[in-house]
Amino acid sequence: MRPLIAGNWKMHGLRADLQKIELVAAWAQKFESAIDVLVCPPATLIRDATRIAEGRLEIGGQDCHPEASGAHTGDIGAEMLRDAGASAVLVGHSERRQNHAETNALVAAKAAAAKRAGLLAVICVGETGAQRASGDALPIVGAQIVASVPAGMQAGDLAIGYEPLWAIGSGRVPTNPEIIEMHAHIRKTLVAHLGEHGRQVRILYGGSVKPANALEILALPEVGGALVGGASLDDLQFEAILASAAKSI
Ligand code: PEP
Repeated sequence: MRPLIAGNWKMHGLRADLQKIELVAAWAQKFESAIDVLVCPPATLIRDATRIAEGRLEIGGQDCHPEASGAHTGDIGAEMLRDAGASAVLVGHSERRQNHAETNALVAAKAAAAKRAGLLAVICVGETGAQRASGDALPIVGAQIVASVPAGMQAGDLAIGYEPLWAIGSGRVPTNPEIIEMHAHIRKTLVAHLGEHGRQVRILYGGSVKPANALEILALPEVGGALVGGASLDDLQFEAILASAAKSI
């Protein structure tokens, strides 16, 4: 399985930052025989980003509404992202789940909208620090997968972003055995939920991925790529992570 490295710019980026897209596109081209690269800039930059990328890397949204259109001020439909040139969308990122009270059911509806529009849905799941400390991380994440991944999705429709909330932006990462255990559990849950398609879904690790730890994490079993926040905004760090991904296969 080719690793997928996805950069999530979150609410960062003005038109002046589009020069980063040209840089990432050049690196993606350099590593294209080995890895897939996705950048999810703010929605305001998607159209320009896809023009600059010229197919050398994928451009994605950071969220979508379940409906294609309607009276939903401020929301963006999956079809609109597709129309702007996106080929993927993050759904259920923990910042959406926490800041906008998104439930698993809503995340599943957004993932279904992504499929309807022909976008890859990167469905994010992850436990809190308290859930990890109380030993509940595996069942919590398993339940999120079952309730957030619509039944009937096929392998090419989705990727999973496993992002422990306590690791996002904190500089802390789970131990290798913790990542291995969780990714194996996610794989088992996906196969039970989606049948054979569950075997082919890429499971990305996210949470404080940096040049210093990328190669080690990406080489772990069932780690099919990385979802990168902070380091995707730093040109040198993101290039180093892409190089690690190309080396990890
Ligand atoms: C994220 O929020 O998706 C993320 C992984 O952030 P960071 O890499 O900064 O921890």
